Amino acid sequence: MSMNESRRFFRWKGLLALALTAALLWAPALAQERVSFTTGLVGDGGDRLGRLDGLIIGIDAGHQAQANYEKEPVSPGSSATKAKVSSGTQGAVSKTPEHVVNLQVALKLKQALLREGASVVMARESADVDISNVERAQMMNQAGADLVLRLHCNGVDTASAHGMVMYVRKTGEKAQESDQAAHCLLTAMLAATGAQDRGVAHSDDYSGLNWSQVPSVLVEMGFLTNPQEEALLISDAYQDKLVQGMVEGIADYFDRQDQDAVAQAGEPAQAEPATGEAQAANAQAVGE
Ligand SMILES: [Zn+2]
Repeated sequence: MSMNESRRFFRWKGLLALALTAALLWAPALAQERVSFTTGLVGDGGDRLGRLDGLIIGIDAGHQAQANYEKEPVSPGSSATKAKVSSGTQGAVSKTPEHVVNLQVALKLKQALLREGASVVMARESADVDISNVERAQMMNQAGADLVLRLHCNGVDTASAHGMVMYVRKTGEKAQESDQAAHCLLTAMLAATGAQDRGVAHSDDYSGLNWSQVPSVLVEMGFLTNPQEEALLISDAYQDKLVQGMVEGIADYFDRQDQDAVAQAGEPAQAEPATGEAQAANAQAVGE
């Protein structure tokens, strides 16, 4: 089999696993409105192949209408605990809650990914849910997601702070793949939006990343506490740019994964994209 054929073969095996998982989870999901599976196999026109054909992408719209400050372990086997889901930030001027913006972008991203042929797993599709960060990660693990985007907006006391930053786990499972995906996403999202580059930050403080067994990136799309960036983040046009950047970044990541596979077979691979490390200003704790 050629590289593309074998990639497609393994992707279809993955889809079968997804279908089985979906079948197992669908009944309780319908009752509780908690888990939502959407598959690109439904109504995508048969043999039309998109750039993300056969891939399973997880989208976790950060936070929910009501925070849950019960505790859960920050990583598997850890005695350190963290709130299940924090409240998130809000718009400086409009007071729009972060969970609203995150879901608006998540739903746009879902449609864009389906158009590219991907299967999409949504952590939530409404605000009225109670799903902890660990549960969200486990949901994506069970679905066998090839990549997870956790969508968030940033918030700090300093109104002037603005720009985009990606968070990935520093160590552990799929840390390297997550880092590569984060660089691809950041480069493409900066190109699509013109936002300030705050780099890729590495941290083992995020339970939603630590519990993930698949590549996972926490995307801080911008600062809702900055009035100019808030106006962009809550606008339809800028959300479309964010999504366009994410789709390009995702496609680039999987292209590079394929190139790496080819390189392992003895052919030259392209160099990593040169995006800077995160500034020290990103070291502050960001709620998840
Ligand atoms: Zn957040």
